Amino acid sequence: MTRPPFAPVSERDIRIVSAQLGRRARNVVGIAARCTCGAPTVVSTAPRLSDGTPFPTFYYLTHPVATAAMSFLEAAQVMIECGELLAADPEVAAAYERAHHEYLADRESIAVVPEIAGISAGGMPTRVKCLHALAAHSLAAGPGVNPIGDVALERSSWSPDVCQCPDYGVDVPDPADPTDDDTRSRA
Ligand SMILES: [Zn+2]
Repeated sequence: MTRPPFAPVSERDIRIVSAQLGRRARNVVGIAARCTCGAPTVVSTAPRLSDGTPFPTFYYLTHPVATAAMSFLEAAQVMIECGELLAADPEVAAAYERAHHEYLADRESIAVVPEIAGISAGGMPTRVKCLHALAAHSLAAGPGVNPIGDVALERSSWSPDVCQCPDYGVDVPDPADPTDDDTRSRA
């Protein structure tokens, strides 16, 4: 788990995230959580993209097995259960609101973007709208910060402690990349 300030992001990290997303990862400011194998599971994205677009989702779940597990939980109505938990338990509701403010503070430590002021992710501070975003926050912040993200991870068939990474194909030389000398020396 990692919150800002982040260590520099390596080209290998970017390649893995790009493979996870199926498109070139852009505007990545940090790797907020990693699998036991070291592969990124959560990326942090600049609050304002290079094209100027405001981007509220500071913590984004990229791991394909983790995202599938969250989609499964959403289909299994776990968001409704979590919404009921928020409504029934004032302590959970208060913790969830604190999580919202922590999320905003983390993001604003990178950049303050007026268009998205007060807007975090996943439905915080009062609703449960996206388990992917909430689990991503829990993975970045560690347990005990986001109570709903914690529930999602507890219920998930994917665990950050067990590597279920596919072969991202990032350790083979990229023929389009002139810095990959391997390709040319073999050719
Ligand atoms: Zn892994």
